[in-house]
Amino acid sequence: MPLSAILRDVFGYTSFRGAQQEIMEHVTQGGDALVLMPTGGGKSLCYQIPAIARARAGLGVTLVVSPLIALMHDQVSALHEVGVEAAYLNSSLGMDDAYETQRRLLRGEWTLLYAAPERVLSPRFLDQLDTLYQRGALALFAIDEAHCVSQWGHDFRPEYRELSILYERYPNVPRIALTATADPLTRADIVERLQLQAARVFVSSFDRPNLHYTIVEKHDPLRQLLHFLREGHAGDSGIVYCQSRKKVEATAQSLREHGLVALPYHAGLDAHTRQRNQDTFLREEGVVMVATIAFGMGIDKPDVRFVAHLDMPKNIEGYYQETGRAGRDGEPADAWMCYGMQDVVTQRRMIDESTGGEEFQRWMLAKLEALLALAESMECRRKRLLAYFGEHPADDLRCNRCDNCLSPPAVWDATEAARKLLSTVYRVRQSSGIGFGSTHIVDILRGKDTPKVSQFGHARLSTFGIGADLGEAQWRSVLRQLLATGALRVDAYQTLELTERSRPVLRGEVPILLRQPLLRPPRSTPATKTPPPSASALDDAAKRRFAALKAWRHAVAQEHNLPAYIIFHDATLAAIAQMAPRTPEALQTIPGIGARKLAAYGEAVLLVVAQSQPQPPPHPQPQ
Ligand code: ADP
Ligand code: ZN
Repeated sequence: MPLSAILRDVFGYTSFRGAQQEIMEHVTQGGDALVLMPTGGGKSLCYQIPAIARARAGLGVTLVVSPLIALMHDQVSALHEVGVEAAYLNSSLGMDDAYETQRRLLRGEWTLLYAAPERVLSPRFLDQLDTLYQRGALALFAIDEAHCVSQWGHDFRPEYRELSILYERYPNVPRIALTATADPLTRADIVERLQLQAARVFVSSFDRPNLHYTIVEKHDPLRQLLHFLREGHAGDSGIVYCQSRKKVEATAQSLREHGLVALPYHAGLDAHTRQRNQDTFLREEGVVMVATIAFGMGIDKPDVRFVAHLDMPKNIEGYYQETGRAGRDGEPADAWMCYGMQDVVTQRRMIDESTGGEEFQRWMLAKLEALLALAESMECRRKRLLAYFGEHPADDLRCNRCDNCLSPPAVWDATEAARKLLSTVYRVRQSSGIGFGSTHIVDILRGKDTPKVSQFGHARLSTFGIGADLGEAQWRSVLRQLLATGALRVDAYQTLELTERSRPVLRGEVPILLRQPLLRPPRSTPATKTPPPSASALDDAAKRRFAALKAWRHAVAQEHNLPAYIIFHDATLAAIAQMAPRTPEALQTIPGIGARKLAAYGEAVLLVVAQSQPQPPPHPQPQ
């Protein structure tokens, strides 16, 4: 059976995405593969379809190694929904269930078996694999989240390293390793550790075309966030990242006071509360999760419509990973970040105080600067991001799905301003013998007569008032840039001081071009306004059907104890609402409806559609 038939009949999709078909053919025919594909790219199908094809060819079971219990559970539920025999083995199973699952494994009943790495490596389980191998009933090994093998990555799992045993013990079984981590160091590590030297490597572009990027300066973060949420995300599911636990709590609280459904998530909460909040986020619609970066790994929810950063992440990898959790379903989603000088100061301090050694600090600094350059950039955000990951988009790329493309910022030459600022920092220290913070420095530059200025006699400095032509926002932007590039630093008392790198700037040798700060937050850009899925484009009758279908899905999900998206994605419901099919044949043409879902839900869906049609006008009664 051709793979496209499995794609259509089992999963209800009409076409492959990107390199999917090539990958699947290669693996189905027994080749090894390393797949690098961004989140939402469709990695799971790359091993699920070969698993189905190979099982049908009598080659046995596919073993999927995955580090995340929640994810295994969701994947297996989703496979059951489309009628594929799948199971998982992990610590969440009781003894009896685990025993039963293994018994059925030996009887060859599973097409896919998901297991945690430590389980795979247990002697008992390896014994069972030996038996299957001898029978020729091990079809494929899929190693998901393969970057966990690398200590360079952020999710290092020592057990992953031992997975090379699969190759040593079962050399004839093909292997596919998959990850959404792009950087070359991690990739090399995966190849080496998993002995995938002979594997074909499939690298997809890391572009996430449906994500819309916006980065704004921080003025009044909570108000800015509320504005962003209200403009385009009323009733949407999304994640708001904050740096500290305290801020997570406070932000969740404020959002609730403003009428949103918001829950906190951070490592300081007890395990039970964390789990409950995560489940609510996964299962209910329209929940905003306010979290530290402790939240997210393995969150497979496809309809996260926005990821907002209230604080700046550490580096571009983090930013890309975190924003990548939005829009896995391919529908438009927003990546929104607000950042300010305090972010830069905090991050720099953390780096300066870190004990990782000088090389490590330099490395972290370079990464922080790259992120700041992205934030301050006047070019297309997408272009900068892709360039960072080693892709080379056209020089004049304008994606029209980022703030800079949609409303190009004005540029101003801050070379002279930077000199004025640095010389003020210098003079203030000279004349008073102590340092001062950024507010005071800016007051001097702008010639403001504050109590502090009088107290220290700073109105007598030659630089007093020489920057009155620039606004505070502009001065803050100059400060951020100087701090980020290390031409200025903040000491332990929050006071500014010059560095080695100040000199060339003072001499005017370093041209500094900055984006013109906006006095008022810009009107939200189009994509934030494009409400969620295609549901936005529905007319009134279709909207009524959409609402009825969602209510039906909610009830079914509750009854089966599953997240709603495992029954049908929003996009599928929207397409049904749009088309208003009357027959199973018509229903089956809609993406996301395979044979099994048609059989299980077709009738019910058609009934919901029929019942939510507008009532025909009453016939005049014959007299
Ligand atoms: P990843 O693991 O790469 O983050 P997933 O495998 O979870 O991505 O896929 C993301 C979403 O895209 C899923 O909802 C999946 O059903 C859907 N998808 C994958 N391949 C296709 C395809 N060829 N056509 C339509 N939808 C697809
Ligand atoms: Zn752009």
